[in-house]
Amino acid sequence: MRVNIDEIKEAGLRRDWDVSREAIDAMVAGDQAGYRAAAPAHFEAKLDKFERRVRVAGQGRVGLTAPCGRCLSPVSVDVPVDFELTLVPADEYVDEPRGEKDRNTGPAAGSFEPGQAEEDVYTGKVIDFDPIVREQLLLALPSYPVCKEDCKGLCPVCGANLNDRECGCDRHVPDPRWAGLKNVKP
Ligand SMILES: [Zn+2]
Ligand SMILES: [Zn+2]
Repeated sequence: MRVNIDEIKEAGLRRDWDVSREAIDAMVAGDQAGYRAAAPAHFEAKLDKFERRVRVAGQGRVGLTAPCGRCLSPVSVDVPVDFELTLVPADEYVDEPRGEKDRNTGPAAGSFEPGQAEEDVYTGKVIDFDPIVREQLLLALPSYPVCKEDCKGLCPVCGANLNDRECGCDRHVPDPRWAGLKNVKP
């Protein structure tokens, strides 16, 4: 989804749009938890322009599936993605490149509610929401989803799903490979 900043009038601009399953899959492909899109996602955003800066308040929900981090059963995860950003034209943002530790202390900050909104950069007249949604979704992802808080996981000895049955393995014997490592000084 793209917006030309000239479309943003005095009263602001509202937009809503869909993000396809394929696009969501591509966004989460690098995440270690193995997420896949469960459905297309719907996003909406309100844009307000202050001179050349654009304040964006956006929200959406992304339905994902992933293997449980302990037992590998499929887990459905509903990830709310809410964000507020101030988009600054690239030529006003020269002193503080993107990715600085504290983006709110630089010369570009302070125009509206300092500390409230993250800053980002746009170039030209077009704001592209695809990388914004991608970045915000990755920030919102749970690192490893679990099927339930007390998931017992898999038996490290035989691989049985311990939620289904107690396999009877003796899991309290320390693995000799790890026991040896305790004596190794870093
Ligand atoms: Zn589990
Ligand atoms: Zn076992």
